Amino acid sequence: MCPFCGCGCNLILNSKDGQLVKVTPQKGTIVNQGSLCVKGSFGYDFVNHKDRLTSPLIKENGAFREASWEEALSLVASKLADTKSKYGADSIGGLSSAKCTNEENYIFQKFMRAAIGTNNVDHCARLCHASTVAGLAAAFGSGAMTNSIAEVEYADVIFAIGSNTTDSHPIIGIGVIKAVRENGAKLIVADPRKIRLTEYADVWMRQKPGTDVALINGLMNVIISEGLEDKDFIANRTEGYEDVKQAVAEYSPDKVSEITGIPKEDIISAARIYAKADRASILYSMGITQHVAGTDNVKSMANLAMLTGNIGRESTGVNPLRGQNNVQGACDLGALPNVYPGYQKVVDDAARAKFEKAWDVKLDNKVGLTVVEMIKAAYAGKVKALYIMGENPMVSDPDLNKVEKALESLDFLVVQDIFLTPTAKLADVVLPAASFAEHEGTFTNTERRVQRLYKAIDAPGDAREDWRIVCDIAGRLGYQMSYDCPADIMDEIALVTPIYGGMGYERLNGVGLQWPCLDKSHPGTKFLHQDKFARGLGKFFPVEFKAPPEWPDAEYPLILTTGRMLFHFHTGSMTRRAKALDEHIPEGMVELNPADAKRLGITHNERVKVSSRRGEISIKAQVTDKVGEGVVFIPFHFAESAANTLTIAELDPVAKIPELKVCAVKLERI
Ligand code: SF4
Repeated sequence: MCPFCGCGCNLILNSKDGQLVKVTPQKGTIVNQGSLCVKGSFGYDFVNHKDRLTSPLIKENGAFREASWEEALSLVASKLADTKSKYGADSIGGLSSAKCTNEENYIFQKFMRAAIGTNNVDHCARLCHASTVAGLAAAFGSGAMTNSIAEVEYADVIFAIGSNTTDSHPIIGIGVIKAVRENGAKLIVADPRKIRLTEYADVWMRQKPGTDVALINGLMNVIISEGLEDKDFIANRTEGYEDVKQAVAEYSPDKVSEITGIPKEDIISAARIYAKADRASILYSMGITQHVAGTDNVKSMANLAMLTGNIGRESTGVNPLRGQNNVQGACDLGALPNVYPGYQKVVDDAARAKFEKAWDVKLDNKVGLTVVEMIKAAYAGKVKALYIMGENPMVSDPDLNKVEKALESLDFLVVQDIFLTPTAKLADVVLPAASFAEHEGTFTNTERRVQRLYKAIDAPGDAREDWRIVCDIAGRLGYQMSYDCPADIMDEIALVTPIYGGMGYERLNGVGLQWPCLDKSHPGTKFLHQDKFARGLGKFFPVEFKAPPEWPDAEYPLILTTGRMLFHFHTGSMTRRAKALDEHIPEGMVELNPADAKRLGITHNERVKVSSRRGEISIKAQVTDKVGEGVVFIPFHFAESAANTLTIAELDPVAKIPELKVCAVKLERI
């Protein structure tokens, strides 16, 4: 399986003499049907890179030295045990990884809960789709993509909002374009940037970043005013409609146009196209979720789909496109501070009793800290030790100068990774892990499909699979976690995780299974909420527009928005070491509109300083009409010009996701 985005494409790794030499697409698969994007095709050689960690490292007098596994693991265990006995289990935090397998995420959260004794476990879903999990669970009872990737092609209308689909989820992007070109689907795009999908759009709405709630309320206002709502669906399948109807009455097209900057004719036209479709599918991604209003945005998506009955049928639905290859699985398997595997709540006595029995240990009954909360607690001296498995907060988290200070102030930091990332450089102990090509396991893609990956080559040097490392540390802490292989871990997962109840390695061969898959005879689930929502009735939530926490002013007059690009991935630790990809795009850039460039006297390709109230970076300017006037865009893949030095760590009050999509900056010539 591809190690990059959440599409979960299948591929064949070709190896020779223990090195990967080529990737070829696998024919006959459901997800990618033999296609791969540029990352899947040419992004694999990071696995062979000379920078791979091959031995445990221990820092002494500010420099790393190589160490044996025995020495490194004993040191980690003794430091964690000391911290726990001095300050309590909640002084330790753990970051699991959306890059690791389901089995490894299960093992890591079990380690934090059972061996350490805290619910302080989280991972980067907090930075991308925590608001999806919260918002869709509240509205529908399940926080996942409702439909399947293959269904997108057969929708009558596709509404892509806050999703640069062709760059961030290229195989799904191909499906959208195919739907438009070959199947006559209509396409509505809402995005502050001119992206490839806007070329194919019947309506492109360029909203001001952070105004999505107003936009969706405006669409619902038009639909209700024109009597286009699905009255039967609302009456039979939902609750709370009258409150939403009342709330959106205030959002006339004129008012929404003023808030969002979108011409009112486009709002009306988009509302009519979406509401009149027989099968309309919403696709959204981090443009919707990475806001302090992220949960509100997601609830708005659910409101719109229920208003028009576009849920619970093929080629409809509310479809969050998950970013990393296993971010869905890391959530499913409980690498979250409030839930055990299968979204069973840690505050629920029955759920906790079940896991106490299964794991033979007493468990903590309070919700733990999220990613950003752990960093803030470290900064405040409350979290003393962190165990980071395969995450890179020194590039991915907001307000990086503070993140660095927080990590430096820890008593003990252990990082487990395949490279010496900017985060690993700050560690006291670094543990070398195996890459995706070097071990067995499963990943769950964005459409809830659990698929197997197979070992192609051995890990370099002494690097080992993450699950083995975690189990070894647990044993040294006096809590035994013994498994012969990942298949055994999956068997345990199936016993305690109802949505994975029917999973097992033999059944997962081939195209895998989509959860919920409740028992060994269950075929898996292509789309959710067919006759009944997971929570019974779908729930409408009235949502009011609130302005983002930081808006441009005289000192910082531009809106910064951040995102991904086709040739790189996430914090760049893999794609920056993939030769073809990094040669094509070797450095970051700030996109700015020609009018802003002219006003500031900035020319194309000139280096500029971008600063916010939290820090500054130097970066190349790209003058382009991809962004509107007053807005600049920086991809967040480049550690040397890290966009997140500038972003703001204000959090969504429900999902605790930070505001990574809107902050105020200024640009200056250097
Ligand atoms: Fe990999 Fe995503 Fe590209 Fe598929 S679309 S090849 S999963 S990066």
